[in-house]
Amino acid sequence: MSETPLQHLFHPANADDYAAAIRSGLAHLTSELAAVTRPVTGAAPAQAAAAVAAVDLDQPLGDADAALDELRRLWLRDAVWFHVPTYAAHLNCPVVIPALVAELFLSAVNSSLDTFDQSVGATFMERQLIGWTANRIGFGARADGVFTSGGSQTNLQALFLARSRGQERGVALGAMRILASQDAHFSVQKSARILGLGEEAVISVPSDRRRRMDPTAFERALTGCLARGERPIAVVATAGTTDFGAIDPLRQIADLARTYDAWLHVDAAYGGGLLVARRRAHLLAGIELADSVTIDYHKTFFQPVSSSALIVRDGATLAPATWHADYLNPVESTNPDQVGKSLQTTRRFDALKLWLTLRVMGPDLVGAYVDDVIDLTEAVHDELLGVEDLEIAAPPQLSTLVLRHAPAGLTEAETGALNLAIRAELYSRGEAMVAATKVDGRQFLKLTLLNPMATREDILGIVERIRKVGTALLGHGALVATGGAR
Ligand SMILES: *Cc1c(COP(=O)(O)O)cnc(C)c1O
Repeated sequence: MSETPLQHLFHPANADDYAAAIRSGLAHLTSELAAVTRPVTGAAPAQAAAAVAAVDLDQPLGDADAALDELRRLWLRDAVWFHVPTYAAHLNCPVVIPALVAELFLSAVNSSLDTFDQSVGATFMERQLIGWTANRIGFGARADGVFTSGGSQTNLQALFLARSRGQERGVALGAMRILASQDAHFSVQKSARILGLGEEAVISVPSDRRRRMDPTAFERALTGCLARGERPIAVVATAGTTDFGAIDPLRQIADLARTYDAWLHVDAAYGGGLLVARRRAHLLAGIELADSVTIDYHKTFFQPVSSSALIVRDGATLAPATWHADYLNPVESTNPDQVGKSLQTTRRFDALKLWLTLRVMGPDLVGAYVDDVIDLTEAVHDELLGVEDLEIAAPPQLSTLVLRHAPAGLTEAETGALNLAIRAELYSRGEAMVAATKVDGRQFLKLTLLNPMATREDILGIVERIRKVGTALLGHGALVATGGAR
């Protein structure tokens, strides 16, 4: 008999220990949750780093309660809580409860989705969700895809497939070009780097006034490529840009992509939730013309990270990701596998979260949340029109508001510095969290609204705080200290 204590392993012999640990964890979590009143406490990086550095990982505490108490100090107490209505910073959503129940199961059972012999039914549940999503996109029976860790990985895989097709057609790597709007996600450039094309291979197409890819500029970029002896192997159309929620003109882009024989990837990492939004699903019209699509369920399907998928119109195009390993999925095996469609090998059953979400809530309710947050964004925007000393960069298209406090008499540099100072002050007060971005080089603040429980008053309250804090900072002459003064 082993002397080693084995009660920490998930096993029927330890079912009571397991249940007790989960109950204790749950008690810690719900009491923490009940105490949350602000999106963040405003802890500074040095403070957070020092608390963590003090932990000696070679000296275990022995029991879960002690470790969870420690966790509270290290993380939970000062964590950023996305469910608080005054959290309006990045593309993070409050998460739905059925998905959290799924997390409990998928971690404990620990199925790995690479092969049937590690997952059995899970393989088909993932496939069915891929099929369900493909159907919503409007793809036909040949569609396929795979869950991934996130939109960046999904975009990388899509561009890998595009590059493979370019290679099949005999295009030299050095001649390959990827076209994307100036507002496309940076993972496009990063993917080009990883794929050995270099970020210079990405041609940035100008956006129109509403930040959508300009089709005329797009065609000019295509013909320019050919005139220089380059080959446009891929086009990335964004359905919901990260900053403005802008949806590129998908049909027009698809027509041109086909004419010039370029792979069309639609990055719907943000806009993907529109697939289930009854009142706005039409905004994605044309997405069915894509060769591949990115959907981030962990953005607009209210799923916990990670949950994303690559969906392709023709499953055969996934082949470049296929590899047969004797130990895993030998060529002669007749078992279904998912590893041949994925960049990963061992892979979480993240699909279970979306599965339970659909089985418990159904797609219409998820879609109603999407419609609600966009309604909210539009209502807040309308309310803010004409507010003195507030500059709105563009009308909202999905659920972001890009704006800034712009009191009269400040230079551009001062206005930028003021808004960064406002953001920092809101964080350290912990009252509200907003993000920041630049619009054509000018500093703005960004509010991303993905909380269906937030009200108009909540969000108008954030904007009111922005203006109040800005006014106070100006009054104290704090702007000089931030280096933004003339
Ligand atoms: C968020 C986002 C991504 C990246 O997705 P991750 O899941 O964060 O890796 C890609 N494209 C767009 C348009 C996004 O908004």
